[in-house]
Amino acid sequence: MPDSPPHDWVTRAADDAIRHAQQQYGEDLGDHVITCASGASPSGPVHLGNLREFLTVHFVAEEIKRRGLAARHLHSWDDYDRFRKVPAGVDPSWSEHIGRPLSAVPDPWGCHDSWAEHYKEPLVASLRELGVEMVEVSQTEMYRAGTYREQILTAVRRRDEIEQVMSRYRTKAATAAPESEQEAAAMADSVANDDENGLTGQGATDDLARFPFKPYCRDCGRDTTIITAYDEDTTDLSYTCTACSYDGVTNLTTESEGKLVWKVDWPMRWHFEGVDFEPGGVDHASPGSSYTVGKELVKIYGGRAPSFVGYSFVGAGGQVKMSSSRGGVPTAAEALKILEAPILRWLYVRRAPKQAFNVDFGAEVVRLYDEWDALGKKAANPDKRDAQVLAFERASSTTSAGRLPTPEVVVPFKLLSSVADVTAGSAELISRIVGDVGHEHASVAQLEPRLGKAMTWMSDFVPVEDRTTVRETPDAARLAALNEDEELWLRQLLDRLPDHLDLEGTTTLIYGVPKLARGLGLEDAPTDQVKQDQKDFFRLLYNLLVDADRGPRLPTLFLALGADTVRRLLTPPA
Ligand SMILES: [Zn+2]
Repeated sequence: MPDSPPHDWVTRAADDAIRHAQQQYGEDLGDHVITCASGASPSGPVHLGNLREFLTVHFVAEEIKRRGLAARHLHSWDDYDRFRKVPAGVDPSWSEHIGRPLSAVPDPWGCHDSWAEHYKEPLVASLRELGVEMVEVSQTEMYRAGTYREQILTAVRRRDEIEQVMSRYRTKAATAAPESEQEAAAMADSVANDDENGLTGQGATDDLARFPFKPYCRDCGRDTTIITAYDEDTTDLSYTCTACSYDGVTNLTTESEGKLVWKVDWPMRWHFEGVDFEPGGVDHASPGSSYTVGKELVKIYGGRAPSFVGYSFVGAGGQVKMSSSRGGVPTAAEALKILEAPILRWLYVRRAPKQAFNVDFGAEVVRLYDEWDALGKKAANPDKRDAQVLAFERASSTTSAGRLPTPEVVVPFKLLSSVADVTAGSAELISRIVGDVGHEHASVAQLEPRLGKAMTWMSDFVPVEDRTTVRETPDAARLAALNEDEELWLRQLLDRLPDHLDLEGTTTLIYGVPKLARGLGLEDAPTDQVKQDQKDFFRLLYNLLVDADRGPRLPTLFLALGADTVRRLLTPPA
C-alpha cells in the first residue's frame, strides 16, 4: 500500500481555499488567481502575535502555488481605522488625535509621514527577511479614492437588514478569556468586538443610531460624529461633531469622507476582493464576533465568506524585557535578531493555528537551534519525509525566493554563542576558534547569518549573571589554598599544556590529568575514583578561570582563551 504524502494544517487550509474558489468558478480554475487575505491595523508595534496573521496566509498561499495554481497573498493595512488611545511613552498631547484615521495621525518620533507608516515600515522589512511576498492595500487609499462607493451605498440602502443580523448576534457577543497578561494586552487592542457603531449612534434617533457608515468630521478629521439626518434620495448625510461642534453634510454618492463600520467593512471586502481564505485571531471567531456576523452580512453583497481558520495567541518567554523597551510581546524584528528567518517561520508552521505558543528569547533558543539542525539532517533523507519534514520544507523555502538564507557551514548555536560569550570578541576571532574546535570553514561569511545572531543573543538577551566572565587576574586566595590533589592536577596540566592548543589534544589532556594523578595513562579508561576526581578538577578549573562552578565546555573554553591566558590564571602569583 503506498504511503499517502505527509499533510498538515496548511494542506487542509489550502484544500479549503481551493474548494472555495472552485465552488464559485468551477472545477477547472484555469488562470483564476486564488486570493488569501490578511489584514492588520498599524496602530502599534506589530508583535509576534500579529505575525501569525501574515504567516498563516503566507503558508497557505505558498501551498496553493506549489500545487501549480495561481494564488496571491493580499494584505490590507487597516490604516483608515481610528486612532484609539495614546500608548504609554507617547506625548499625552497626542490624545487630541484620538478618533482620526491612523494614517492622519502624525508620527510622534518624526521619522515617518504618519503613525501608521511608523509601524508598517519595520514590519514590512521583517516580512521581506521572512520571505513573505504580498500585495499591499492601504484602506485609507481605497476609501479616500471612493473605491467602495457602490458598496457603501448598498450597505446604507440595506441597513435595516444589516441591523437585523447585528441585533441577532449582539447579545451573543463573547470573547475568549485571555490566558496571560500579554494576551490580555494584545486583545485590549483588538477591534474584533468593537461596538459596531462606535460613537455614530450616541444621541441619534433610532433609525440613524445603527448606521453602517461613519463619517470623519470634515473640520477636525475625527470620527466623533453623530449622524443627524440621511436623505435617501440625495444620499446627503448630515452630522454633528461632538469634538469640534462642526455641523457637516457629506454626500455618499460624490464624496469619500468616512468608512463602513468594521463588522460591515470586513465582509464587504471579502466580496470586493474575492477572498477565498482569511484567518483571524480567535477573538474574531467567537460567537457574535466579526467573522460570524460577517458570514451573514456578506450576503447583502451576494458574496460568500472565505474559508477561515482561527488562530491562537503567540507570546514570548525568556529575557524579553531586556530587549524590548516597551515590555509586552516583542516584534518580528526583535525575534529576527536572534533567530534565522526559516526558524522563525518554522515556529509558526509546525503548530496548528489553534495552538498557542511562546517564542522564547532565553535559554530555550539553544535547544530550538539544536532541534532545527536535527530536523535539517532528517530532511536530507528522502525516506524520512513526514509531517515534520514537510514543516521544515515550508519553513526553509518559498516558491519565488527559493531557499531562505541559512549558514553554508552549520555550527551548533550553542558553540557559537558560548565562544561569543567567553571571548566577547569579534566575528573573526569567534570564527577562528570555531575552526580550531573542529568546525572547518573558509570564512566568517560561511557562518552567517547564524554567527551574528549568536553574538547578538549573548550580548543583548542573555542576562549578565548567566554570562561567562573570564577572570582578569588569578585568584590568589584560591591558588594559595589548593589541597594536595589540586596542586598535583594543576602542575600536571601546566607541564603538558602546549603553546598551541588543538581540540583533540586539549580534550585528552583535561580529561586525562586526573588519570595521571591516579597512576593511569592519559588514554586509559577512567575508574570510578577518577570520574569523581574529574568532577572536582573541572570545578576547580571553572573556579579559577571564570569564577563559577560551571561554564562552556572546558576544551572550548581553553581554546577560546588561548594557552597564555589559561597558564596565567592557573599559576599562583609569584
Ligand atoms: Zn470635528
